[in-house]
Amino acid sequence: MRTPPPTARPGAAGPRASAYSRALAGLVLLAALTPALPACSHKADPNAGAGPQANSATPAPTAAAGPAQQGQVKAADRGDFKVARREPDDDGLSPEERAEMADEEKSLEEAAAELNKAFSLPHDIFIGFGECEEPNAFYDTEKKEVVVCYQLVEDLYESFRGDYRSDEEIKEVVGNATTFIFFHEVGHALIDAYDLPVTGREEDAVDQLSVLVLADGSEEGDRTVLDAARSFSRATDAELDELAFADEHSLDRQRFYNIICLLYGQNQEKFASLVNDGTLPEGRAERCGDEYARARKAWDSLLAPYVK
Ligand SMILES: [Zn+2]
Repeated sequence: MRTPPPTARPGAAGPRASAYSRALAGLVLLAALTPALPACSHKADPNAGAGPQANSATPAPTAAAGPAQQGQVKAADRGDFKVARREPDDDGLSPEERAEMADEEKSLEEAAAELNKAFSLPHDIFIGFGECEEPNAFYDTEKKEVVVCYQLVEDLYESFRGDYRSDEEIKEVVGNATTFIFFHEVGHALIDAYDLPVTGREEDAVDQLSVLVLADGSEEGDRTVLDAARSFSRATDAELDELAFADEHSLDRQRFYNIICLLYGQNQEKFASLVNDGTLPEGRAERCGDEYARARKAWDSLLAPYVK
């Protein structure tokens, strides 16, 4: 989602110990995976300021810098990913809950550090979990903040309950789905920060980015994308109403196939079973190699001036 719904209250944090620890599972993984972010062999300008400044100017490279000159001109680094500080009314928190919040903050700091290694930003971007009134995640263009709601984590947990025997398994799959959603929202934040052109629907574009970042060839990365795809495969046609068709997001089951297609397209030998077992229809699978290549080229070109 691009903007917060009016009901979102990302600033308030309450005692939700279980949600904290589940969210934490995703973040630990996230911190481990972020080195797979796009990187460039060119060094960033050592004279470019690395610290955050109150400068709203877009640090676009020169007008001549386009995809054809990828990597040749680098944008200045004027901002950082930062953990959104909560001022929780935490009188009711138990020592365990306080400890979990501290752990969560530490994991967010690690994720922010990895993102800062990868990207030069024109302004600070805040990341964090928050309390909302509905299961959601969003990028707030005014506050420049990515918020993943605890309610979304809880919702994922509920939707996967029953599919897995152990709490550990559920926790892992929820963590993976949450990680995917986090990078989807980071994608919205980057499009806003760099004023990137997007042809087609932005929601689909940032799903692509999330796959490209996470599917780095590692078993962990593959598992993360597959679990995320599975979280979108659970809707049935019976649940669709007219609003679903009007939504800015593709239908959940379309998102499932789009994600699976990119994963298969990235390495058709490795993921041949997705076609063989009928998960990905052959008619779609034929074009997934090209879909992956185009998405990769587009995102690599667009981000090239901004990766360190
Ligand atoms: Zn979105």
